[in-house]
Amino acid sequence: MVVACDDLYGGTYHLFGSELKSFGIDMTFVSFSGLVEMARKNNVISMIDNTFATPYLIQPYVQGVNVVIHSATKYIAGHSDVTAGIVAGDQDMVQRAKEKMANLGCNLGPFDAWLAGSRMERQVKNAAALAQFMKSQQAIKKVYYPESASTKGNGAIVTVELDEKANIEAFFRHLSWVKLVATLAGVETSASYPLGTSHRNMPDELIKQHGLTKHVVRISVGIEDIEDIQDAFSAALNQSM
Ligand SMILES: *Cc1c(COP(=O)(O)O)cnc(C)c1O
Repeated sequence: MVVACDDLYGGTYHLFGSELKSFGIDMTFVSFSGLVEMARKNNVISMIDNTFATPYLIQPYVQGVNVVIHSATKYIAGHSDVTAGIVAGDQDMVQRAKEKMANLGCNLGPFDAWLAGSRMERQVKNAAALAQFMKSQQAIKKVYYPESASTKGNGAIVTVELDEKANIEAFFRHLSWVKLVATLAGVETSASYPLGTSHRNMPDELIKQHGLTKHVVRISVGIEDIEDIQDAFSAALNQSM
C-alpha cells in the first residue's frame, strides 16, 4: 500500500496511478502537509523526491525521511547531457534498490556517472532575484516561489502566472535566447509549459485544484548574468500584452 501526496511530479503521478496498480499495489493520494510525520508516528517507511532542492539546500534524510530520491538529470548533473537518478537513505533500503536495479538493468553507465556535477549556489541566487523582479511586472498575475525552504535559499524554479489578458503564445515566441523545453534544471535558463509537458497526465480536477491555468509558465533559472535573464523575460512579457 502506497500513500502519496497529490501534488507530485507529473511523471511520478502517472507511474503511481498506472504501473503500481499493475503490480497489485494499492495507491492513495492525499494532500502533502504532515505526511512524513504521520508515517513516522505509524512506523511506515517514508520517501521523498528531493530533485528541486538537491542536498545542497535540504537533506530530508537528516530530518527523518527514510528514503530520498533525486532525478540527477536535473541540478545534480544539469548540463543537459545525462539521464540519471539517485536513491539515498537507510542502508538496507539503498542496498535493496541497488540489487533491484542491477537485476532489472536500469543502472547507470560509467560515462554518465562521470558527467554528473553540481552548481546550485548561483542558480538559487539568480532565482530569488528573478522572483522578486517578476512581482513588479505588470503582465504577471502571480509568482510562485518558496519562502524559507532552507538557510541557503529557496531553489531555482520560479513559476509565474501571466495576466489573463496576456497572449501566452506571443510570450513564448519572444523569449529570445531562453529556450522553451520539456525539462528543467540545466545550467541555462529555460522555460516550460507544465500543462503541455510535466503535468499533462494529471486529471483535470487536480490541475484546477493546484492553480495550473493555461497562463502558468515554469522558469528554470540558470547561471547567466541576472540582468540578461531579467531583460529576456521583461521583453517577452511586454510583447505578450
Ligand atoms: C524530471 C523529474 C523526475 C524524473 O527524472 P528523469 O531523470 O527525467 O527520469 C522526477 N522527479 C522530479 C521532481 C523531476 O523534476
